[in-house]
Amino acid sequence: VKKPWQTISKGHKSYDLVLKLQLGIRFSVGKPSSKQSMKLWPSDFNPREKFWTRFPPEGSKITHAHHSSEFRWKDYCPKVFRHLRKLFGVDPADYVNAICGTDYLTELSSPGKSGSLFFLTQDDRFIIKTVRKCEVKILIRMLLNYYQHVCKYENSLLTKFYGVHCVKPIGGHKVRFIVMGNLLCSEYGIHRRFDLKGSSHGRTIQKREEEIDETSTLKDLDLNFVFHLQKPWFKNIMWQIERDCEFLEAEGIMDYSLLVGFHFSDDLSDSKMETYPARYMDGREELIQLGANVPARAEHVYQGSNFEHLPSAGDKFYKVVLYFGIIDILRDYNFSKKLEHAYKSLQVDPSSISAVEPNLYSRRFRDFISRVFVEDD
Ligand code: ATP
Ligand code: CA
Ligand code: CA
Repeated sequence: VKKPWQTISKGHKSYDLVLKLQLGIRFSVGKPSSKQSMKLWPSDFNPREKFWTRFPPEGSKITHAHHSSEFRWKDYCPKVFRHLRKLFGVDPADYVNAICGTDYLTELSSPGKSGSLFFLTQDDRFIIKTVRKCEVKILIRMLLNYYQHVCKYENSLLTKFYGVHCVKPIGGHKVRFIVMGNLLCSEYGIHRRFDLKGSSHGRTIQKREEEIDETSTLKDLDLNFVFHLQKPWFKNIMWQIERDCEFLEAEGIMDYSLLVGFHFSDDLSDSKMETYPARYMDGREELIQLGANVPARAEHVYQGSNFEHLPSAGDKFYKVVLYFGIIDILRDYNFSKKLEHAYKSLQVDPSSISAVEPNLYSRRFRDFISRVFVEDD
């Protein structure tokens, strides 16, 4: 049986790639120029703001010697991401340590259909995802607006992006990747995780009950809970989701998901549960996280009833701590998606499939969320 999460140590197929990206990130974040906090200019967001560095094994004037083969390393808009990391309260030393320190990264076994690889840091804070060129393009294209959005809304539920890079081994293919925040980073274990789009076609994990555990990412049709949130949480979350969806719509983005993870918390003391909003100190300023540590009651309902209005399974409530956010936001409604839509609509009800125009996508997404998150009475 293949373990769902594998340690990337010597001999693992991703070991060499990870070595290269660790060398690159240590170099980029540790650069002397990156220590000064400089003002951002519009030109820093320019898609042409990218820099190649050569990493020969014997080292160079600016890079250390290493045990991997020679490669080139590219940084996209590094100054912007330096500012974003600061904004999101990520300390540069912690960042480098988590990704490039002595702790091994873990590979999550291809959680998505796209074929992307996912690496998780040991401290659970960061996820590295390999992405396609078109995804990098979209991120860089929206970067200025994204930056303004997350500055304006400190509670934004959009994926937190910390860096975009590319590794090009000599004689090998380019591998592009993004570093982002792990939404399900929790001091409590996550017992269940759901990737929700608001579409029903094909949205099930297709596993037998006994194969499902806390590492499985379940989907819309597998969802057998409705989450009851206290009034202030509910209001703020719904309001923020509206703002975030407006942003995605304006950027022509679709196919994103609300990732929801939760911890059954019957063993937690009440005092810990009632804090609103959840706060943590990063040394300097107090950060509020709307998508983490949210107390809720999970009502058990029949599977898929959020689509089909089946009666509830009877008042079975669990006390939970919720974590959630909006992920996979780097796809626009491009030509290939239009094709997929045209093809699939011949076979199934078009409104049930995930490839629809961004405004329709956003509406359906919010509709679905408002059936999954409800106000507690
Ligand atoms: P596809 O395009 O087929 O949906 P993908 O390869 O683009 O898949 P994502 O949708 O980005 O992959 O992510 C797949 C899964 O990885 C998610 O359902 C979730 O379980 C996990 N994941 C992705 N991003 C994050 C994140 N920022 N925090 C926590 N988990 C994440
Ligand atoms: Ca996805
Ligand atoms: Ca995707």
